[in-house]
Amino acid sequence: MTHPKDVLIDWLRDAHAMESQAVEMLERQVDRIENYPDLLVKAREHIEVSKRQADRVRQCLKMLGTDTSSIKTGIGMLMGNAQSLSGVFASDEIVKASVFNYAFEHFEIANYRAMIAAATTAGQPEIARILQQSLDEEVEMAGWLEQRLPQVTATFLARREAGATVEAKR
Ligand code: MG
Ligand code: FE
Repeated sequence: MTHPKDVLIDWLRDAHAMESQAVEMLERQVDRIENYPDLLVKAREHIEVSKRQADRVRQCLKMLGTDTSSIKTGIGMLMGNAQSLSGVFASDEIVKASVFNYAFEHFEIANYRAMIAAATTAGQPEIARILQQSLDEEVEMAGWLEQRLPQVTATFLARREAGATVEAKR
């Protein structure tokens, strides 16, 4: 028998890895974005958002009486090889990264929805409330990316047609 609370603890540990990965991916991206200033601003902002989300996950684990000292971090725990999927070395990387980020936000959204349901089932409404704050932030980011993706693509294509070959720092 596994209590829902123990499943929730496992998922929170995975979520901590997810947020660590989000920070690492976005930090790699902001080092390379050059010609898309609003993407740069939003990515920097979402790094800080993601760090706060990781803090919330640790807070939830502590509330459940879990030691967070050996918590999971690092790349690739949940998404496979995110580095290659995010198109780091492709010339169209700004579009590939935007597509990847849009998908990643939905991955986060789905995970927070599942964790909120698990917290509710486990009789942990305060944890559900804390995670809802992070869910709302991911929905906001996904919506922003959804709204920006067509224009980023159009800008990329116009720059490419005009002869630009480098869309990010090498
Ligand atoms: Mg996040
Ligand atoms: Fe996010």
